[in-house]
Amino acid sequence: MKAAVLHSGDRSLKIENISLPSVLPKQVKIKVKACGICGSDIHLILHGKMKASYSPCVPGHETSGVVEELGEGVTKFKVGDRVVVSAGTSCGHCAFCQSGRENLCEEIGVLGFNQRGGFAEYLIIEDRYLHLLPESIPFAQGAILADAVSTPYHAIKYQGNLKAGETVVIIGCGGLGIHGVAIAKALGAGHIIAVDIDRGSLENALSYGASEVILLEKNTQLGKVLKEKTKGVDLLADFSGFMTNIESSIRAMNRGGRIVLVGIGRSKLEIPMPFFLIERQIRITGSYGSDSRAIPELIELYLAHKIDLTKSISGIHKLEEANEYLHALEEKNGNPIRFILNPEL
Ligand SMILES: [Zn+2]
Ligand SMILES: [Zn+2]
Repeated sequence: MKAAVLHSGDRSLKIENISLPSVLPKQVKIKVKACGICGSDIHLILHGKMKASYSPCVPGHETSGVVEELGEGVTKFKVGDRVVVSAGTSCGHCAFCQSGRENLCEEIGVLGFNQRGGFAEYLIIEDRYLHLLPESIPFAQGAILADAVSTPYHAIKYQGNLKAGETVVIIGCGGLGIHGVAIAKALGAGHIIAVDIDRGSLENALSYGASEVILLEKNTQLGKVLKEKTKGVDLLADFSGFMTNIESSIRAMNRGGRIVLVGIGRSKLEIPMPFFLIERQIRITGSYGSDSRAIPELIELYLAHKIDLTKSISGIHKLEEANEYLHALEEKNGNPIRFILNPEL
């Protein structure tokens, strides 16, 4: 099969013909119809800042397609089913996996990073990672449910416990954060403030339901601006990974507020006024990927017209154009949200 392959040490993908293994029991062979290009693919492929655990690797963790072959013992799916594949991989048998909280599994991994992903004509994977995708959701929009939409959903709904009417701040409005805005809106947030360093991303945020935006400049003291603009922030979700924004924002948080860290940064997080946090019972929590609830619940929200992903698809391209669109995403040419690869083109 044709695949976009990353050899260790390379800084670009090569289109190659690679062998397709046979389908083992409990596995399903999927003909890939769409696979999203994520920011983490930029770190893996262009920068080498993230590493795959096998080589050469086939990236791609936002995959949708059609079931083409069933391994022994697969009963939940049939040939011809439209499916979306979870981005997170896990052991499948620990207590967390058994209770549907796979993103807490000690063996948590990411499709593409620790086993072949969707930048290929076919994907062979265990059936426990699959979700049925209704006919009315296009493959490209279905694919991005796997990460760009489900990761912020988990962060805002389950780690952030958003309640209707609350004031929400989303920092970082790229491919994930922008859907954080859409989800906050869908779940009934009263006021949504989007924060970014990029004007184009803030324009996107307004069109996804942000009530107002803050352009972060070099000297912006985010906490001060938030205090001026709100009566207190109930939920702050960070997709940027820059901890200085978090430190500055703590004093703008409401009593019982929640700060959810999603963006992965390398800097230290210092709590300038611990008593403020203690006395107001402000919670700081992490959020990683999503669990078994996210994709089915997002499909319900989609079918109820509570989220619209039409504008999230910035273009659908050939596998051969993968390198070009990795660069286009990195350079933010034309404010892209998600570029999709379709190996059938
Ligand atoms: Zn991703
Ligand atoms: Zn597990």
